[in-house]
This record gives sequence, C-alpha cells and structure tokens, in this order.
Amino acid sequence: MRRDDPDGARRPADPAAGLLTIDLDALRANYRRIQSDVAPAECAGVVKADAYGLGAARIAPALAAAGCRSFFVALPEEGMTLRAVLPQARIYVLEGCLRNDQNLFLDHDLSPVLNSLHQVRDWADLARRSGRRLPAALHLDTGMARLGLSGDEVAALAADPAPLRAFPLALVMSHLACADTPEAEMNAAQRAAFLRLKACLPPAPASLANSAGCYLGRAYHFDLVRPGVALYGGRPHPGREPAMTPVLRWEAVVLQLREVPAGAAVGYGASERVTRPSRLATIAVGYADGYKRGLSHSGAALIDGVRVPVVGRVSMDLVTLDVTDLPPGAVRPGRCVELLGAGLTIDDLAAAGGTIAHDVLTGLGRRFARAYTEGQGRR
Ligand SMILES: *Cc1c(COP(=O)(O)O)cnc(C)c1O
Repeated sequence: MRRDDPDGARRPADPAAGLLTIDLDALRANYRRIQSDVAPAECAGVVKADAYGLGAARIAPALAAAGCRSFFVALPEEGMTLRAVLPQARIYVLEGCLRNDQNLFLDHDLSPVLNSLHQVRDWADLARRSGRRLPAALHLDTGMARLGLSGDEVAALAADPAPLRAFPLALVMSHLACADTPEAEMNAAQRAAFLRLKACLPPAPASLANSAGCYLGRAYHFDLVRPGVALYGGRPHPGREPAMTPVLRWEAVVLQLREVPAGAAVGYGASERVTRPSRLATIAVGYADGYKRGLSHSGAALIDGVRVPVVGRVSMDLVTLDVTDLPPGAVRPGRCVELLGAGLTIDDLAAAGGTIAHDVLTGLGRRFARAYTEGQGRR
C-alpha cells in the first residue's frame, strides 16, 4: 500500500493511519519448515492470545491447511472461538479446566492441559459422569514453577492412577524456561526431570519444545512440538540461525515534515537534540499502536530501503523519524514508511525496543487496518 497522494490527504476510506499485512503463505512456509525439521514428531500450532495478535480466525485455518492437527490456546474462551473455525482439530487449553468452565469444554470439544492433581480428579469425574471420551493433556512442572503438577503430585498420581483410567491421556508435557539460550544448563536439567516424572505415569505421547526448543536438537522433540512465535516469523534463537520467513509487513503514514536547525529538541522531555540541520518526518503510530515506548531513541523505520532512525521519545500516537539522509522530495505527507517487513524483522524491532518478538506481536494495536495475503507469491 502506498498513499502517495499529492496533497497528502488521507482517504476517508482509510480506517486508520497504517496497515498491517499478514502473509499466510509465509506462515504456512514456516509451519512446513518446522514440521520437516522436527519430523517424525508432530508439529502443533500455538495460537493463544488470538494467534499472538495476528487473528486466530485466519491463522489457524491456514495452519490446518498446511497439515497442523493440534492447536494450543491459553483460555477456554479462545478455544471456543477456535472451534468455530476448526471443526476437526484437537484444541488444547493451556490454563486447564476450572470447574466453572466444564460445560464450555464439553460443548466445544476442548481438551484441557491439566495442571494440578485437583484438575486431574475433576476431569476424571467429569468423564465418568458424562460417559464421554474426554482426552486431556497433563502438564508436569520441571523447574519453571508456573503451572503443572509438582513432583509430589506426580508421585501421588503414580500411587493412585485410577483418575487416569477415566479419560485418554493424550499428551504429557512440560515447558522449558531457557530454551532460547541453547547453552543454558537448565535445558538438560528440565529434560532429565521430565523423563524422570513421565516414567512414573502410564505411557503417553510427550511434548517439551516451544519454538526455541525445536532447535535444541532431536532429544527435545519427543512426539509433539509446540511452536508459536517461529510460525509468525520470530527467530527460535534470536541472533542465531535459523531465520524464519517474515510474515508481517507494517506500514505507517507520514503526517508531517519539518526542517529543524542543529540543536533543536525533539519530542517529550526534550530528551534528544539533533546534531545537524535535519529533516524530520512525523508518522502516525505510537505506543498505543504497539510501537513500544522502549523504541524511543533506538528504533528505526525503512523508507525506500533506507534506514531512518527514531528521534526522541515515542509518543502515544506519534513517532518522529530523521529523514535527512533521503533525497528531498522522497518523503511527503501521505506516503508510507515500513516499520516491519523483510528488511526489518520482529526480532530487529524487539531487540531495538529491549523486548522479545512475542511482546512485539501481541502488542500490535487495533487502530490500523489489517489485510491478509495468500496465493500471490511473496512481496
Ligand atoms: C506460549 C507457549 C508455547 C509457544 O512458545 P513460543 O516461544 O512462542 O514458541 C509453547 N508451550 C507453552 C506451554 C506455551 O505457553
């Protein structure tokens, strides 16, 4: 999308001052890449938080078309929304099933990831009462101290495994705390704890790896892997290979240009002064749109392939770019600058903003238009 409008007017049809383009072909390419890298393990898709903000209703069917059969969401409500577009898939709910939610799980054929002995017993009761086959996963805590059965709870379940006979144990899983740091000793320690705890339980398919875990070696693949961010173009291990195919292109509109003398202050707090006579472009994006405030003084955008740095602080609705190095006339009000794309990845933006790709993705706002592309080759 270019909005090279001579008088710089925003067209009334524009819902907002920017556009996020989501490339479903790139998403599927990433899925197939990971699937082939972990084969013969199954590759599931993690689509919690509305597919990391990209829109689960479009993302999940695209993944299913690429062969994905198992999906993970965080909340039962997310599972309900997903079921409407995925009639066949296995849908796991990571936060488990609380008693109040049982009907939601039954009505929408959702499988909980059971996180405590209580939840296991409640699910077993529900399965007996309903007379239905209700597959569920079991989460073991191997050192993250967040969710999952503790070692003591696993021992209690091993001593009295009756609840586990009431429903199919579809998956036994755990989650790695340090998978993005391959040299961390914690990875091997968690894997060993996982094997030790799992051995106390009836045989079931196993899962340990998120995106980063997929690239720690075969020993971490087990039967099913659970990538999220890598499907959406984030590097499993930031700063290292492999790179994934970029899925997003994010463009924002230039609102105004101005020439300022050397020494002029820019933005809130007058926290940055330009060191040369400069041409500045103010664009219609800010931290309210997910352009993180941490990108103050450190972010950059691309205009015709040229990197233009953020000057001063990121405001709620506005960012100021230094476009002095572009030929005069190259930047006019109404044209678009690239905030994310093939030349500027979510990992680049995350690193510049002092955060991680997951945070950049889930933070993307709702004030700009969204478009999905597929079947037209890469842009
Ligand atoms: C979010 C999540 C994942 C996916 O993590 P990524 O780093 O995005 O690949 C996998 N497993 C669990 C339990 C999660 O909560």
